[in-house]
Amino acid sequence: MNAHAAGVRTHGGVRRPGPAAPTWIQPRYMADFACLADACPNTCCKGWTIEVDPGTAERWRRHADPAHRARLTTALVERRDPGAPVRTVMRLGSNGCCTLLREDGLCSVHAEFGEDWLAESCRNYPRLETGTGSLRHRAGSIGCVEVARRVLGEPDALTEASEGDPLVMLAPVGIDGIPARGPAIGDQEAAWLRSVVLRLFGRHDLPWSARVALFTITIEDLGRIDLVRSRRRLLDLVLRTESVLRRPELAGFDGIFPAEPERVVPTLVPIVRVLLEVGRSDAPIAETARALTVSFESAGDATSLGSLVENLASASRKGLEPELDARPHLRGNLVAAALLHERFPVGRPSTAVDAAWNAALFWALWKLLVCGVVFLSDKPFETAAVEVAYRLGRIFAHWPAAQSALRRDLDRRGVRTSALLAALLR
Ligand code: SF4
Repeated sequence: MNAHAAGVRTHGGVRRPGPAAPTWIQPRYMADFACLADACPNTCCKGWTIEVDPGTAERWRRHADPAHRARLTTALVERRDPGAPVRTVMRLGSNGCCTLLREDGLCSVHAEFGEDWLAESCRNYPRLETGTGSLRHRAGSIGCVEVARRVLGEPDALTEASEGDPLVMLAPVGIDGIPARGPAIGDQEAAWLRSVVLRLFGRHDLPWSARVALFTITIEDLGRIDLVRSRRRLLDLVLRTESVLRRPELAGFDGIFPAEPERVVPTLVPIVRVLLEVGRSDAPIAETARALTVSFESAGDATSLGSLVENLASASRKGLEPELDARPHLRGNLVAAALLHERFPVGRPSTAVDAAWNAALFWALWKLLVCGVVFLSDKPFETAAVEVAYRLGRIFAHWPAAQSALRRDLDRRGVRTSALLAALLR
């Protein structure tokens, strides 16, 4: 949203490093990110709850010019959700757009007053930043059209670029000389783990099944690590994954986890049902979800579930897999971008494992919905792929409870296993 102003294209917001500047690591798609501004086919100023930080709201309410003050203040709404603190958000017009968005697709605040007057959420979007010390990470929300377009279209979009002192990554003791402690993954540990996982998904020369197998094994081991008892195990895990990645026999991992649509589809049916309910926020996704599940919804028995599994597996074999095979970078790029969208691997090891599950669910739903869009409409694969990616990214950004509800459901049924994680990713 940040660059909807007067045609100005802003870049990834990379700060020039000075002597005390942090080292920034980011994938290439963010390092030279440029908002599509008025050329965006689905602006992020539409259909979202756009939060306005208290500082910006106050500044707008005190604008020196009475006419500007009135216009800016009218664009703000106090939102009162049960049990939650009152929030200030942007007023949306009847077309679902922010009322300060001009007809030409540019932001009137940016155009008239400058980027400095934007709400923090508008200025930062689609950037997702983590890290607090000398080592920071920046990724992009997959809900942004341009992020989705680059991730799906550019083979090297996920290659990491760093700006600042590269030795920060290698410091033996930890960030700023302070060793990481406590139950959460430290910034430097996160950088190593993230880097090895991105390189794993970036090995477009390897079979997808082999990359999925190594990732699944890595996540399984990550879930067993208690950082309070031993931090060394995390470093050992990174080094082991790194060394396996270099070995030629990795291709032999191919058969460890078979593709199992009959395991995946029943798992996704509950979440597809919830997608039916999001019609208000994303009608095209809800429509596709409804069409995909209509046979199951009408009968709801084991036979219709069986035929749903069969139909989707056959649609995937005929329509989706050949498209994916023709683009060897696509699977790895989209799963890696979904992981970054989930801020993998921030927090405790268990939080990082949950992020991996969320990324796997995103990927499985993306495949399901792209199959649906391609078969139910005459949209070409590239268009459907980008559209489903950013629409799903927006749904999940606004609806994190759905992912955790699904994970809890899998836990309750005792099926949240490595085999299912791998099956979702296949
Ligand atoms: S979705 Fe992305 S490209 Fe489109 S207007 Fe928003 S930030 Fe810019």
